[in-house]
Amino acid sequence: MEKLALFGGKPIFDKKIGYGHQYIDESDVQAVVEVLKGDFLTCGPKLEEAEKKLCEITGAKHTVLVSNGTAALHAACYAAGIQKGDEVITTPLTFAASANCVLYCGARPVFADINPSTYNIDPQEIEKKISNRTKAIVAVDFTGQAVELDAIKDICKRYDLTLIEDGAHSIGTKYKGVPVGSIADMTTFSFHPVKTVTAGEGGAIMTSNDKFYKKLQLFRAHGITRNEEWLENVSEGGWYYEQIGLGLNYRMTDIQASLLISQLAKLDIFAKRRKEIVTMYNKAFEEMSEIIVQKEIPQSDTVRHLYLLQLNLEMLNAGRSEIYNALMAENIGCNVHYIPVYYFPYYQKSGYEKGLCPNAEQLYERLITIPLYYHMTDEDVKKVILAVKKVLAYFRK
Ligand SMILES: *Cc1c(COP(=O)(O)O)cnc(C)c1O
Repeated sequence: MEKLALFGGKPIFDKKIGYGHQYIDESDVQAVVEVLKGDFLTCGPKLEEAEKKLCEITGAKHTVLVSNGTAALHAACYAAGIQKGDEVITTPLTFAASANCVLYCGARPVFADINPSTYNIDPQEIEKKISNRTKAIVAVDFTGQAVELDAIKDICKRYDLTLIEDGAHSIGTKYKGVPVGSIADMTTFSFHPVKTVTAGEGGAIMTSNDKFYKKLQLFRAHGITRNEEWLENVSEGGWYYEQIGLGLNYRMTDIQASLLISQLAKLDIFAKRRKEIVTMYNKAFEEMSEIIVQKEIPQSDTVRHLYLLQLNLEMLNAGRSEIYNALMAENIGCNVHYIPVYYFPYYQKSGYEKGLCPNAEQLYERLITIPLYYHMTDEDVKKVILAVKKVLAYFRK
């Protein structure tokens, strides 16, 4: 057996590859330079153009671009009217922002457990956590796979809840043939560089509800408006504007919006390549008893943002951290998505206890994220598979 790099052997990759990486080409560079040479660095025409483009891609009636995905979630909670005393149900297996957005509004996130095969929030667990304070659900399309939207929408209808879909991972994904972004009451995206499409930093909220759209626009810009129809008093002249709510400065610049437009033009090729890589990984890992492959519901045509190995620890004489260290030593950039949100000291101090969501907790112990990004070559993918096989063969019981 070949010596593991962890023990001084030759690593499979000469140089470390990341678990995710942006893909920027010459057209992206030109798109940014064009804005820098123009008149509007912010609040200009690129913003509207990018919003129109996202409406076309998702089929949503409205898009509001904001400074990042966290701001998008905050804005969505604000528009849904979340406030002190309310509860909002979300998954523990997500980035902290999916729950923090509820705290920003003075409300309480309530965690519902995941389905152990798909890793997405389990609709039956959602229903168990509903109280008379529940106002909304933040459902995260974890790794890019759409949540069980029919079942969750049905719950929202029966209990009169707003559905916010955190689509930070799922741009390009379709549920029953319909793009994510036009299905929930509001859907948010993130354009952080590790995500499928990037604007450097950036976020978006898609909605087809006019009331939400108005609140989102106000929230992005201090609660201030010049819109004649929204003014509460009579306009005093051309300079006149009013603050009719309390918002923030969550605007996206035209520099970011222009990069976003250029990136969105590549969404189809990004999606195609990600699907190819996932197919190669699945084929290799389905044959290995040390690995459990993430299940997909047939309704989701998934553009995968993250590829996760679930270690079948019963077959191994090492834990997740040893396997992680061994893969890192082979120069494979790994990560773990995610530490359950309520494990963090901040949440623990607010009264959340471990044991709340056993499926998510058990899964967390077994997960390792391996590289998945657009410009990985077939050779790269084969080498990652080789390294996983090499490491797991060593630690097999
Ligand atoms: C990245 C991410 C966010 C936050 O997006 P930012 O643009 O980094 O603020 C929210 N939710 C999930 C699930 C994410 O992965």
